[in-house]
Amino acid sequence: MTTVPSVPLNDGTAIPQVGYGVLMIPDDETEAVVTTAIEAGYRSIDTATIYGNEAGVGAAIAASNVPRDELYVTTKLWNTDQDRPRAALESSLERLGLSSVDLYLIHWPMPAQDRYVDAWRALRELRDEGLARTIGVSNFEVHHLERLERETDVVPAVNQIELHPRLVQPELRAFHAAHGIVTEAWSPLARGALLDDPTLVSIARAHDRAPAQVVLRWHVQLGNVAIPKSATPERIAANLAVFDFALTDDEMASISALNAPDGRTGPHPDTYDGS
Ligand code: NDP
Repeated sequence: MTTVPSVPLNDGTAIPQVGYGVLMIPDDETEAVVTTAIEAGYRSIDTATIYGNEAGVGAAIAASNVPRDELYVTTKLWNTDQDRPRAALESSLERLGLSSVDLYLIHWPMPAQDRYVDAWRALRELRDEGLARTIGVSNFEVHHLERLERETDVVPAVNQIELHPRLVQPELRAFHAAHGIVTEAWSPLARGALLDDPTLVSIARAHDRAPAQVVLRWHVQLGNVAIPKSATPERIAANLAVFDFALTDDEMASISALNAPDGRTGPHPDTYDGS
């Protein structure tokens, strides 16, 4: 079973570098796949209130032999709850069957409703009370992060953003590095869309690996945290087997060169209205 290294966070805690994402997995199927993931060696699970499967994640955790303090659970404050973070987190904890999460994220900045700074202050209180061990954000652009820094005294530990070889996000990654924020990649495999790219296929062949493993290894060598999703047991295991080979500098550069102006698979955080 693979042991996953951890990445240190700016609050003195640490997060496993590869975790398991459960977007689009129906609640009644979630317990089984999360159980498969934990058995394969995953210790970090990424869910969100809007995914509707916190209960399934909680059921897998409750049924697991792995102690709670060896598991890392992330959930997220949904957009329509930015004016009630405490009630939202308490409801999430109830569904998860947990007394605290390891990481609580503001899911999107939703700049049009202009509530994220107040929501961030509320998350700081929830962290101080121990309901969330670490707090962070998701889908924040540089100017949103700058505003949090300017108007509050807590820098997010993590920013979870869309990031993969078609959307390399150099500006955000540089800002994170300069401000002690860990970059967490969502849709790290671009939802599977880039896995037949000839560059990736050729590098994968050279290492006798699958293209998905090459992409995840690229994330690891960039220092990103990645949370691939798969509902397929073989892929769940394969996506964790990325700590026993290394890409060359040239291979890293040719994967980063797949960055494309239209590489985004999700909405832009500046304009996304939460629907
Ligand atoms: P991913 O980039 O993880 O890709 C998932 C897709 O890739 C699935 O179709 C899966 O198929 C396929 N796949 C996975 N592993 C392999 C493999 N080894 N070989 C071939 N195909 C593979 O996309 P997601 O959008 O699911 O992102 C991952 C996680 O990021 C989410 O589950 C969620 O936790 C988080 N996320 C966060 C967002 C945010 O706003 N904060 C937004 C979007 C995602 P199959 O399941 O059939 O195996």
